[in-house]
Amino acid sequence: MQVAVFSTKPYDRAFLQAANRARATPHRLVFLEPRLSAETALLADGAAAVCLFVNDLADAPVLERLAAQGVRFVALRCAGFNNVDLAAASRLGIRIARVPAYSPESVAEHTVAMMLALNRRIHRAHARVREGNFALDGLLGFDMKGRTVGLIGTGRIGAALARILAGFGCRVLAHDPRPDAALPVEFVTLEELLAQSHIISIHCPLTPATRHLIDARAVARMRPGVMLVNTSRGAIVDTRAAIEGLKSGRIGLLGLDVYEEEGDLFFEDLSGQVLQDDVFARLLTFPNVLITAHQAFFTEDALAAIAETTLGNLDAFARDGRGMHEVSVEKLA
Ligand code: NAD
Repeated sequence: MQVAVFSTKPYDRAFLQAANRARATPHRLVFLEPRLSAETALLADGAAAVCLFVNDLADAPVLERLAAQGVRFVALRCAGFNNVDLAAASRLGIRIARVPAYSPESVAEHTVAMMLALNRRIHRAHARVREGNFALDGLLGFDMKGRTVGLIGTGRIGAALARILAGFGCRVLAHDPRPDAALPVEFVTLEELLAQSHIISIHCPLTPATRHLIDARAVARMRPGVMLVNTSRGAIVDTRAAIEGLKSGRIGLLGLDVYEEEGDLFFEDLSGQVLQDDVFARLLTFPNVLITAHQAFFTEDALAAIAETTLGNLDAFARDGRGMHEVSVEKLA
């Protein structure tokens, strides 16, 4: 089967090719660097399936173009599917599959890396030491042991993080509409979580209900000086509200692996260009903000697992006309 792979980076190509070579019947993978959009959909010409990542856009107009070109299957090489219009896909007869779980630890461990780096100001300490500045002022942190950490969402990633934080001796609060009693956490309302947590970490999916879940109202309910970490999806946090929270001191430390307008920035080397996003530029001015460019998933274990499941979805569609891990409006209903 011919597959148009959008947003390809060298690492995607390496892991997908390795998984494809290992198959009894390899697919014809056509690697494309551009992101999928209305302008680039034509590049999928001749393909029965497209393979997409987090910032590829598969809204109704794009899916209509793909359907007209004969595309019948979208294999997402990520867990989130907020960038796909599932209702339009269903109407057009395009099936959607994703990689529901690859390595929740990859994201959970990166989240812990951000928490510890922010807490102990590792980003600032590293820059200082390289400049010959060995002073400690401004680098004061706190013990994780005994601190309260609030997890919004305790699915695969939230659960993996809860287990790590339990090992640190943290008190872990959690909020999830589907609480899992087996986890080492205390389930509370979102209001209680916001009010009590020294650290808040976001691990729910981006849906219409969670868009700007963390807005000015939610920030106002947080503990003064709270650490907020988002490694889920950018638009769950209203960035402008976070900036106001940083300016007032309500948010003491902010860690972001995702950003609501990341589509035009992340995964590209823009170091020679003038940054056009003034909101993002403001975020970069804060000494207490640490940003990584959507790299929480980026471990060799996760990439190998993503490639294997993605090829498994493509195999299943080529063989049975349906992916292994499909998402649809009908399934979510
Ligand atoms: P999952 O589906 O296993 O878990 C999501 C959990 O969120 C579920 O338990 C669900 O009940 C809960 N939830 C839904 N709505 C909620 C709400 N309003 N409040 C609180 N909880 C809510 O997903 P996962 O594998 O744990 O991944 C979580 C998210 O992490 C994904 O949706 C994706 O957006 C993001 N992600 C980011 C990266 C990265 O590299 N930064 C990588 C993978 C996934």
